[in-house]
Amino acid sequence: MAFEYGRADAVSPLIRRVVANNPGPFTYLGTGTYLVGHGEVAVIDPGPADDRHLDALLAATAGERISHILITHTHLDHAPLAHPLKQRTGATIYGLSEPSRQADEGDDVPKAAADAAALFQPDVVIADGQRICGPGWTLEALFTPGHASNHVAYALVEENALFCGDHIMGWSTTVISPPDGDMSQYYASLDRVQAQAFDVLWPTHGPPITEVAPFVEAYRNHRLARERQILSELSGGRATIAEMIPRLYRGVDKRLHAAAARSVLAHLIHLVREGKVHCGGSPNLTSYFSVISNSAI
Ligand SMILES: [Zn+2]
Repeated sequence: MAFEYGRADAVSPLIRRVVANNPGPFTYLGTGTYLVGHGEVAVIDPGPADDRHLDALLAATAGERISHILITHTHLDHAPLAHPLKQRTGATIYGLSEPSRQADEGDDVPKAAADAAALFQPDVVIADGQRICGPGWTLEALFTPGHASNHVAYALVEENALFCGDHIMGWSTTVISPPDGDMSQYYASLDRVQAQAFDVLWPTHGPPITEVAPFVEAYRNHRLARERQILSELSGGRATIAEMIPRLYRGVDKRLHAAAARSVLAHLIHLVREGKVHCGGSPNLTSYFSVISNSAI
């Protein structure tokens, strides 16, 4: 993927991309902000609170008008620049509101409901299937919960393309971290994307995906393979996530094990719902799990 931080690259007739300088283990090279249209422009995921990225977006659209700002979800590498960009351009922000934070999301999350006013709010709460139009472009919202409960992808009708946010990434599997992340919803959202037969996916992180059907299928198969591994761990007598992680993520940087544990929990919650795994009580990171006999491995 050829790019330079802050430079707007024309990547299709209607799409330009500007990458923010926020590389990391969850953002790859950084947040890819998409500009759709010419003259009157929609911005998809302005990105993190970063003045230089704001300046880059304004420079890229000098002489044009940013009319719409669309948010795929409210994680910190996607949404925080929306309001500063609105202040500078008068654009209307579309998306879903930030979910109220839940207690067991981790120590770094402020107490639930501590400051509801500080949660991200769009100007317009978008509806599934809602269309947003400008001169020569049409964007259609496709609800795709899973990575985040408020995740929305946007189809660009004229190019049969989908801005898929973090639902599908061009470089890695997507993080599904309960309780806001939900594996059952995630599978259903993969089905939704697959059913629409897009020609190209533009993820927020990483290069575009042009072989959409096999890519999404491989993405799903990767998850299903992990499920089988988890069921096999349970059959082998390992009943807790802590026991499974060093085996499932052998060779993976230990600093990523905490995130991996949340991903395994997401799988286990899904398997409990499917009736393949038993858990006495609501599943969490320290629960004891057991495989229900006769469940398919
Ligand atoms: Zn992201």
